[in-house]
Amino acid sequence: MLIESYRLEIEVATHSDQEFEYEAIAHFDVDISEALAYLNTELNSGTYFSDGPAFSWRKNSHKIGFWPKKIAADHLETREQAEEIIEGLVKLVNDVWERRHEIEPDTRTHEKRQPLELFKLLPKTNCKVCGENTCYNFSIKLASGLLELDACVPIIQEEQYGAQRSSLQSILKVKRPLL
Ligand code: SF4
Repeated sequence: MLIESYRLEIEVATHSDQEFEYEAIAHFDVDISEALAYLNTELNSGTYFSDGPAFSWRKNSHKIGFWPKKIAADHLETREQAEEIIEGLVKLVNDVWERRHEIEPDTRTHEKRQPLELFKLLPKTNCKVCGENTCYNFSIKLASGLLELDACVPIIQEEQYGAQRSSLQSILKVKRPLL
């Protein structure tokens, strides 16, 4: 196991009298720099930065950062959620590290996905099943990793969208290095 223990720091970020959120940071003594290149391969919507190094990723509404000796997550509603998310992220690093012999490490920074490229392949019916008002809004969140393709039920389930589904799955799977 790479991260055997960590110290959890939870902070309150206040936005107004009534609006606040929790931010959580796991601090550990072990250096996970090498593991970040494996995360870069495994997590398609994340971004690797060689300075540091560091790896940023979005999971639902949370911005997540991985550094050599800490992992941080924001936009947490409760302390319990903070504990749960951080525990999951530590487990993710440990799981990827355990499987590192099956994974090609990648230390390149990749081009961000363009919403328009994704939008062109969506059904464009604005049916709202995904929870977004328009397919274009969905494509923005899909590109940033805030939503997964599975949230668009029509494209996953309807036969008529089979070719578009395959194209989207390929685009979302492949990371393109910045030149
Ligand atoms: S579920 Fe799919 S088709 Fe419907 S609005 Fe969302 S992205 Fe568009």
